[in-house]
This record gives sequence, structure tokens and C-alpha cells, in this order.
Amino acid sequence: MITLKEALTLSKEELETFKKDLQTKIEANSELNAYIDVKNVGEGVPIAIKDNIQVKDWSVTSASNILQGYIAPYNATVIQKLKSAGLSPFGRTNMDEFAMGSTTESSFYGKTLNPHNSDCVPGGSSGGSAAAVGAGLAIAALGSDTGGSIRQPAAFCGIVGMKPTYGRVSRYGLGAYASSLDQIGPMTQNVEDAALLYDIISGSDEKDSTNAQKDDKVTPNLNADRKLTIAVLPKYIENASQDVKDAYEKAIEALKSAGHTIVEKEIMDAKFDISAYYITATAEATTNLARYDGIRYGNRVEGKNLEETYINTRSNGFGDEVKRRIMLGNFVLSSGYYEAYYVKAQKTRNIIKDEYAKIFEEVDLILSPVAPSVANKFGELKNPMDMYLSDIYTISINLAGLPALSLPIMKNSDGMPVGLQLIAKAYDEQTLFDGSLSLEKQLNY
Ligand code: GLN
Repeated sequence: MITLKEALTLSKEELETFKKDLQTKIEANSELNAYIDVKNVGEGVPIAIKDNIQVKDWSVTSASNILQGYIAPYNATVIQKLKSAGLSPFGRTNMDEFAMGSTTESSFYGKTLNPHNSDCVPGGSSGGSAAAVGAGLAIAALGSDTGGSIRQPAAFCGIVGMKPTYGRVSRYGLGAYASSLDQIGPMTQNVEDAALLYDIISGSDEKDSTNAQKDDKVTPNLNADRKLTIAVLPKYIENASQDVKDAYEKAIEALKSAGHTIVEKEIMDAKFDISAYYITATAEATTNLARYDGIRYGNRVEGKNLEETYINTRSNGFGDEVKRRIMLGNFVLSSGYYEAYYVKAQKTRNIIKDEYAKIFEEVDLILSPVAPSVANKFGELKNPMDMYLSDIYTISINLAGLPALSLPIMKNSDGMPVGLQLIAKAYDEQTLFDGSLSLEKQLNY
């Protein structure tokens, strides 16, 4: 597959031919189920879009039954920015329903397969985007990351996935999961493409009140030769699988060979991250999903009166995982438990932020696992708690609002990709991309 950088140099005619071939290739690989819908709309370099980002006049469902039939009335800001840069949405990618999950199994459209092994999950929730890029069925894709949903599927499918600093990329037109954590980001074949796509979609937007209103770009200064100080976390990785530990060793050696300084650091036990994240995320999700009442969007199941219409619509429209989170979110926000759970989670969130800030007083980047293991097999995570625990290495970064980039390091003995992430200070995407590019070059994956 050609890179985004190469695609941007193609002529109009070359692009049209390319898009026809791409469509044929996607159809030939339909068993992967990476795409929900493919359409050649508009001129430009084709980009795959996660199905929770609005493209005007195209269906947008967040892979939920409740949004069947809903057509986006406007473009998300990121789509507007893509178009201005000569890119065009080409397909809607599969995902976990409302971006809740780590495997893409909770989609209304059925599961997506991992391109490296069809018995394995592609990761989630942006599993369709990751599988499409990993299988050579997309030049690049957009995903969204609330607790790891760009980085973890990227790691499972052997591609690059980047979550920007909270506020860098406008959320206008993104189906909200947990508004204080969600960020849209690039999923690409390599670090340079990720930087290119990041530059295109990031920047100020008055339509998003949480936008940082910053317009600085990374590609003009991209520099793999900078020598950085990078923290490693020996204790933090103790519970990771041997594959991940091997990749960690390999990455450290590569970073040293590239001339970076490695220092050992400690960070708070990740078990607190899980609690703080699942309380915060479900509380916000409960509120955000209240709007799906059968009146304003998508599917409606009529009842005898308005209340019954709400109940029927929501009972029928939401899948099990979404219902579980709505219940959990309502519970932690209920008056009797608000202080004990929600307020405590916010305090924990501040502690996590401080922990990272302390490390970043002395280093430029932190090297961390993305997931505790390589992609699991379908059905291997027996209960929801197992799935929640698989997020331990990604969610604290969303809680702290930091930028992070997941890149493939090696393949294990079964040929499955193992990814790791670099984490940077808030708004220091420049250093994140510089360090990632240096690691990528050194590894030659
Ligand atoms: N797996 C996490 C969750 O289910 C993260 C999902 C995401 O980042 N959207 O909440």
C-alpha cells in the first residue's frame, strides 16, 4: 500500500484509478469486516473514517442499532480539515458500539478480524480502522481514543496510532463517549504519515469549547536526530506478557543505539487507573447517551406513551455493553454514591496527572506498553472485567490528557505484532513524533 505522503503527490487521474482498485480490494477482503460502508465521495486521497465521526449526508451509527437510519447533517471539523487538505472520506470503519470496548466485538455489524490472524481480535474500539490499515485496505484512517481505542488496536494490527493531547483536535462532530477523555487521532502505516495526518486534523476550532486553540504543526520541524531523555518503567511492566517484555527490551536497546538517554522511573500502580477511568468514563457516557431517546436520532420503537417509547427504544437499540455502562454511570452519579465514587475518581485523576508531571520534570518521553499482551483470541476474555483490565496501560494517559503514540516494535513467535507507546508532555507532540520517528528508523520493523 502506498503511504499517505506518496498518495498526496498523485494526480487526479492516478487517484481515481487507485480508488477503483482499492474498492475492489476491499470487496475481495470483505470477510475482515473492517468497513461498515464504502463510498467514493468527492475528490482527494481516500481516508477511512471511524463510524462515530460525522461526514455530511452519510450515515453515522457508532456501530449501534439505535442510530440505524441516521444521516449526519454536518461535517465534523476533522472532516472539514481533511477536505481542505485534499483528502476525502472513503469508507466508514467498524468499531465497538459507541466506542465502548477493546475488541470490536460489540459492534451491531458483527466483529472485525485481525489481519494477522483471523482467530484474533483486531483490538478496539477503533478495530475497523486498525484492521483496514493493517490489511492494506486503507492508506490511513481516523480513530478515536477515550481510553486507548486508537493505540491498542494499532498495536494489535501492527500499525501506528496516535492520541493527541486533549484539546488538540476538535471533537465537533465526534459521537461523544466520555467528553473529558475523547480525542480523534491518526492511524497510519508509519510515523511520518501519522505526523502528516495529525497536522491536518489538529488546530483551533471555535465550535469545540474544550479546544486548546493551538495551531502549531510538527512536520516542518520533524527531526529524528534529536537526542532525548526517555523514562522506562521496570516495575510497571512486571505484569505484562513475555512478548511485551521482550519488545520493551528491544525498544530500550534501539533507543540507546540511537543515542537517547534512558532513565528508570516508577509510577503509581495501574490498578487505580482502572477504577478512576471506568467511573469517570461511564459517568460521562451515561450523560452523553441520554440524548438517544428515539425522538431526535435514528431508530424508534413506539410504545403506548412517551415514557414507554423511550424505554422500548433504548432497550431495543443499545447492546449489552452499552447498557452495562449506562447502569454503572448512573450508579456512580447517584446522590448516595456520588462522593464515594465520582468525586474520589476525580481526585485519583489529579494524582495520576501529578505522577506524570513529576516524571516529566526530568525526561522528554516515557516508554510504556500499550496492552498487557498481543491480540487475544475471540472469546478469550471471559467477562467484562477481564476486558476492562486489558486497558491498564492506556487509560491513565487519557485521564492525564497527554499525547501518546503506539508503534509496532516486533512480531512474536506466532507472527503477531507487538506494539509499545511513547508518551509526551501535554502539547509536546513535536518531541513525541521526533522520538517515535527515531525509534521507528532504528527498529526497521
Ligand atoms: N477500552 C476502553 C473502554 O472500553 C477504551 C475505549 C476507547 O478508547 N474508546 O472504555
